[in-house]
Amino acid sequence: MTDFSISILNWYNHEKTSMPWRDEPDPYRIWLSEVMLQQTQIQTVIPYYLRWIKTLPTVRDAAESSEDVVLKLWEGLGYYARARNFRLACQTITENFDGIVPSDPIQFKQLKGVGDYITAAVQSIAFGHPLPVIDGNVRRITSRLLSLPHPPDQHYGEIMDFLTRHIGDTQPGDFNQAMMDLARDVCKPKVPLCTQCPVSCYCSAFSDQNVHRYPVKKEKKTRPHFRVAVGVIWKDSHILVSKRKSNGLLGGLWEFPGGKIQNGESSPECIQRETLEELGIQVTVGDFIKTIQHAYTHFSISMDSYHCRFKTGEPKSIGCSDWKWIKRDELVSLAFPKANHKIFDNIPEVSPFEN
Ligand code: SF4
Repeated sequence: MTDFSISILNWYNHEKTSMPWRDEPDPYRIWLSEVMLQQTQIQTVIPYYLRWIKTLPTVRDAAESSEDVVLKLWEGLGYYARARNFRLACQTITENFDGIVPSDPIQFKQLKGVGDYITAAVQSIAFGHPLPVIDGNVRRITSRLLSLPHPPDQHYGEIMDFLTRHIGDTQPGDFNQAMMDLARDVCKPKVPLCTQCPVSCYCSAFSDQNVHRYPVKKEKKTRPHFRVAVGVIWKDSHILVSKRKSNGLLGGLWEFPGGKIQNGESSPECIQRETLEELGIQVTVGDFIKTIQHAYTHFSISMDSYHCRFKTGEPKSIGCSDWKWIKRDELVSLAFPKANHKIFDNIPEVSPFEN
């Protein structure tokens, strides 16, 4: 073990953050937590994790659940492909590995949705394989430790080499978790707490007193903005909802039919065009409900919503994977994107066209 490893592991033994998945080291739970933690903060993840484990406590339970159930458990966490892939991977483990998470990194990495990061995290923490994890936090701290002159993405080899030299064979899972905890709690993005840092004596940026320069930032791209219109389509006391295709953004979630507004098109015209193209039906657009502003990671939208009355046609899954008529109170039983949630409170119990 290197002096750097000893310093960081000593710190971790005293300061490690308590998390529910650390109390019961079970590969399934560690894996689930790591999938949830990608792009999401710990405090947000904990209630989702606890709810999931209560509902689907084992690999087999996740494998036997429906896509709707896992998406509902995931609703609000974003990056829904993670949930769909996790369920599919659990099905593979149930079919090919008798429900036991593979302890061989090569076999594990072949599972759906499992990449380098998840493989290293799960295989090091659950099975003791010395595989370094590299996430955004680890990139930041190593950029400072090594004073890397370019954005961290351009230094993958140096970062991996540094971590491989220090991870060691005895506590690789603790080493990885220590790096992630230290980066998150001490080597913070804006104001690193260098005077409390157990590895400051190994830190090049600290010794040169130019911590603020690292990590070197990438040039920022501007985030595109789209205008969207959706219809709350009523037929008597029922509302039409459609399911997004699995293989895209927000895949598998239910939504109010609609889409992007084209140049020169009004919101009502957009809803009429989209419902015809995606579902093969015609609607009459009624009262305006509200406009929602919502920002996703790579783009933002403003979404106009209208009450609509079903006119003609038999709904078909043309541009969606499924559709159904539901009662108002069933909205909460399905998984919807956050932007759709923002109009739930404006939807009455009975159709506004019934009078
Ligand atoms: Fe980060 Fe400061 Fe520690 Fe260097 S000394 S690793 S910049 S917290």
